[in-house]
This record gives sequence, C-alpha cells and structure tokens, in this order.
Amino acid sequence: MSEDGPDLIVAGAGGGLVAALRAAELGLDVLVVEASAHFKRGNNTAMSTAMIPGAGSRWQREAGIEDSPQQFLDDVMRKTKGSADHRLASALAEVSATLVEWLANHVRLPLSLVTDFSYPGHSQLRCHTVEGRHGSGMLEHLARAVADEPRIDMLTPARLTDVSVDSDGVVDGVTITMPDGSVDVVPTRAVLLATNGYGANAAMVAEHVPEIAAARYHGSEHSAGDALTIGRRLGAESAYLDAYQGHAALSKQATTLVGWATVMHGGIVLDTSGRRFGDETTGYSEYAAILAARPGSEGWVVIDRSIYDKCMSFKDFQQTVDSGAAVWADDMDGLATATGLPPAAVVEELTAVQRYASGEDSDPFGRSSFGHTLTGPYAAIKIVPALFHTQGGLVVDENARVLRTDGSAITGLFASGGAAMGISGHGAAGYLAGNGLLPALGLAYLAASSLRTKEL
Ligand SMILES: Cc1cc2nc3c(=O)[nH]c(=O)nc-3n(C[C@H](O)[C@H](O)[C@H](O)COP(=O)(O)OP(=O)(O)OC[C@H]3O[C@@H](n4cnc5c(N)ncnc54)[C@H](O)[C@@H]3O)c2cc1C
Repeated sequence: MSEDGPDLIVAGAGGGLVAALRAAELGLDVLVVEASAHFKRGNNTAMSTAMIPGAGSRWQREAGIEDSPQQFLDDVMRKTKGSADHRLASALAEVSATLVEWLANHVRLPLSLVTDFSYPGHSQLRCHTVEGRHGSGMLEHLARAVADEPRIDMLTPARLTDVSVDSDGVVDGVTITMPDGSVDVVPTRAVLLATNGYGANAAMVAEHVPEIAAARYHGSEHSAGDALTIGRRLGAESAYLDAYQGHAALSKQATTLVGWATVMHGGIVLDTSGRRFGDETTGYSEYAAILAARPGSEGWVVIDRSIYDKCMSFKDFQQTVDSGAAVWADDMDGLATATGLPPAAVVEELTAVQRYASGEDSDPFGRSSFGHTLTGPYAAIKIVPALFHTQGGLVVDENARVLRTDGSAITGLFASGGAAMGISGHGAAGYLAGNGLLPALGLAYLAASSLRTKEL
C-alpha cells in the first residue's frame, strides 16, 4: 500500500466485499474496515436467504427462460407503482446478470437459478442462490476470497466514523475508531460506505417507518445509520427513508425465518381468530405491517406435507422446524386443537381455500394462485412480523457515487446496499425479493468498476 493510503476504503464487510474483490481484480489496493468481529454471522448479507436477481443470466438461458434487464426494470417499476428511482433501478437491472456471472466466474461462488417457485412480483424466474439458500454460506465464501487476495487488507473490529474532503470537496481520507476509543486517520481518494441502513437505530425507525417500529427487528445490530450521519455531514442528499423490507413470517418460537416459499407453494396465513385476512401472495414485505395490525400482532402459517418437503431446501426453514416450532395435525379439527385457534374458523377457512385452489370458487381477497390444494396432514407455525432492513439512504447515481443536495457528486464517495437509497420506492410494498442484495452487491460492483477510470 502506498504512502497515499489504499486506493479504496470499504466500510462494511457485507455486500461491500464485492467492491473490494472487484477493485482488487482491477489492480487496486483496498482496505476493508468492519465494525463487528462477528460480521460473518451477524450482518444482513449473512442473515439473508441469498436470493440475487440476474435478468438475462446464462442459467436462465440454459433453462430456456427469456428475460431481460428491461423486463426486470418493468417489474420493479410495477411493484413500486412507478415510485422507484428509474435511473438507479435501470442501472441495477442492467448489471444484474453481469453481477451473478462475475460472482460465479471470478469469485467462484457456486450459484444456481431457483426454479421450484416464483417470488411475488417477478415475471420471470430470475433469483440465483447458493446451496442451502442462506447468506452465511455466501458471505463465508466472499470473506475467504478476500482473505486470499493480497491486494486487500481487512481491519476488524474497527468503525469508520468519518470521511474528510479537501478544499475542492474531493475525498481525501477517513477516520477509523478502534474499540478502545483510539482513532486513526488514513488517507485515500475513494471510500465506499457499505454500512447498511438504520434498522438497529430505534429512534430513526420510529421517525421514518413508524408502522413497523413495534415489530421485531431481525437484522444486523450494527445497522445504526452511520452512512447517513457521515454523508449528511458532507452535504449529501438522502431519499426514500420511509422504505423498508419487512417480513410477515418470522417464527415466534424460534426467531428464525419461516420463509414465504411456504405461501408461494400454497400455504395460507391465519390470524389469532383463525381467519385469513388478505391475499398472501401480494408480498411478504408489505404483509408484515398487515399482520402487525391484526389482533395480537401474530398469526399462523398453515402448510401441508408436500409444502413442508419443498421448503426443506431452505436452511432457515430447516432450522425453524428442527427447533420444534411446527405443530402437526391429521385433519382440520386437529389443527385447531394443536394451534388453539377457534375450530369453526379454521375448518371454514381451510375448506374455502380448497375450493379456491380447485377453481370451484374465487378468493374474496383476490388470491389467484394457490399452488396446490392443501390436504392433511397439516402443519402450522406461529409467526410474528419483523423488520429486516431499511431501504432508504444516501442518494447515489448509476455508479454508486453519492450526490449532494444540489445534484453534484461528492468525488470519491460511494454508497451501496442499505447505506444508499434502494429501488423499492416508498414504504414496504415495493420490495421485490432480491432487491436488498442487488443494491448491496450490485452498487458495490459498479462503484469499484467505475474507480479505475473515474476517480483515480
Ligand atoms: C433474514 C433476512 C433475509 C434476507 N433475504 C434476502 C434475500 O434473499 N435477497 C435479498 O436481496 N435481500 C435479502 N435480505 C436483505 C439483505 O440481507 C440486505 O439488503 C443486504 O444484505 C444489505 O447489505 P449491506 O452490505 O448493505 O449490509 P450488511 O450485510 O449488513 O453489511 C454491513 C456491514 O457494515 C458493518 N458496519 C456498520 N457500520 C459500520 C461502520 N461505521 N464502520 C465499519 N463497519 C460498519 C456491519 O457490521 C456489517 O457487517 C434479507 C435480510 C434478512 C434480515
């Protein structure tokens, strides 16, 4: 590393590791500063289901799926009712296939296309994932690649607490605070803020996303909003601060993810009165606040043996059922007894759902896809709504450059993932599966790719 410091400093070893690896591939020296010694287990990338969208990927072509960045962009704009930032959504849709192929080719991440079910809002099968469908395996792999790369140094635990600029407003260094309170100032010309959003900052959550503030937070404890604080000190603009990814199916007992594959394969959600209360397939993110507003703010996911077997491809689901969170019953009355829900309501709802699934009747909530007809034996898992991460943050352009309130770029400053504004519009309903990791890995990739020519 030269006297001028590393070519790039990355704050945050989640999706930010992609920037480090991409920059090293381009011949640059990188320092990664990570606040948590346990990041490989505790950050959001590690906690995720590892679903990464790639529109037009080679796996899709091999499976005969015709997809394109434009089609993905159309899905994003439809799901967000036109409110997502078009320029950013377009850049991420465009880079998505390149990203998954680069992860497989350059980082040797063993990715495959998910073809056994479709997530709400995606018009094509385009989510790519790793064995076990869990982010811990993916992050472990990225961290190993970083450790093997001589151009990358890693400093952990250490917190990036400030970024400085010269008299022209160009980035010239960072402040790093060690756990003992000592401070280091390191020169650099480029900084990526990949420190995630503000989900762990209760005051900010209550201010920006009050509808989900009472729900359980199921994300990294280090998502304290540091990027917003640092960026704003430098005059950066922020946007979409009311956007978040919720999830309606966190196991109450195990505090692990039950997952929405349960629903997409044909499961239903009942509230504590034993009643369905909406079209579950609209999306797990928006269903979190809907469930939070039901009596007791909890409910049950009901599935059958066939759905159970299909969901075992998810490590999270395996952990949930291994913990004993699922109750089983041979028939509808037995399910009411096992869950403690009112028997008449349970029998009525399950019988009605069988009629909707077989096409005899239509669902008053408008759900059109039931996967298959639910038949006993049944399993039910008690669920609570959760906040996974926030989606608003620093305004960035298509190269992840942080922009000031007047629209000009702060030269040398980049943001990705939860630190940057996302592509999910406002609120929770615009979130499409994969659109947490895509801005995390994709903006990191774009930032590093642009460095070689633009910032150095
Ligand atoms: C259970 C769950 C499942 C999910 N599944 C999916 C999915 O399948 N697909 C999808 O697209 N999204 C998913 N998401 C969302 C996705 O995980 C996040 O959007 C994404 O991982 C955010 O990446 P990031 O790099 O911004 O943050 P993180 O991965 O959280 O990384 C940020 C890192 O920065 C560190 N840090 C914080 N502050 C500082 C600082 N000041 N200095 C240095 N380091 C700092 C933190 O310790 C952390 O390691 C899921 C989320 C959860 C919780």
